[in-house]
Amino acid sequence: MSEIPPELHKAVQQVAATETLLSCWDFDGTLAPIVADPEAARPLPGTVELLQELAALPDTHVALLSGRARADLARLSQVEPPIELVGCHGAEFPPRLVTSDLTEQAELLQELVTEVTELADGVEGVLLEVKPVSVAVHVRNVSDRDLATDLTERVLSSPGTRSGVQVTTGKEVVELSVAEGNKGEAIDILRGDIGATAVTFMGDDVTDEHGFAVLEPGDLGVKVGFGETAARYHVAEPEDVQMLLRLLISERGSSAKDR
Ligand SMILES: [Mg+2]
Repeated sequence: MSEIPPELHKAVQQVAATETLLSCWDFDGTLAPIVADPEAARPLPGTVELLQELAALPDTHVALLSGRARADLARLSQVEPPIELVGCHGAEFPPRLVTSDLTEQAELLQELVTEVTELADGVEGVLLEVKPVSVAVHVRNVSDRDLATDLTERVLSSPGTRSGVQVTTGKEVVELSVAEGNKGEAIDILRGDIGATAVTFMGDDVTDEHGFAVLEPGDLGVKVGFGETAARYHVAEPEDVQMLLRLLISERGSSAKDR
């Protein structure tokens, strides 16, 4: 995308003029290009500075909503307060918004980790990611594709069917969570907490559809990449997201003078 299409440009202008803005961003595949090693994911150069700039504007709140654990999201994204971080697909909130005690789910999580570890035993290239409330099975780097499909199916049909377990499937990953929540609920909670009068959300994966689904008229949803989506607009890649971020800052900055 060499420039932003006129309809999307106009939508950014409209949302930027709202009184109190909540701007939510997915991390992997949206701010940071997808890479084979999840530990190597970093935002595009310049993106962090732009996010901080947006968050410093009056009546403007910025949050990253990721499937990653909050601690990992903080470390890899390198963003700083006042930007807020929500991890584990909307199940792991900033401390000030945490309302439930997750210790009783810890035992179930431990059992899931044991089961999944056994299922994944001997599958070359598989990556198990244990987070505070979930375990994710990444098969992106499993070169034997039949084995990858087979492992995913076994995870879904065995530990994935246990009671109290929420299953999330994304691109090349299946995740078993012991906590409720998704990105849509996270957006609703942040919107209410902040008293936002409009929300923007950009994301690339199937788990981001929960987020797009709760957007209201006057909000702005942008899907990164192609495929079926509830988002009104789409762009191709993180470079385009950075272009939208720049536009949002400039429109929000100029509308602040009029508000
Ligand atoms: Mg993503």
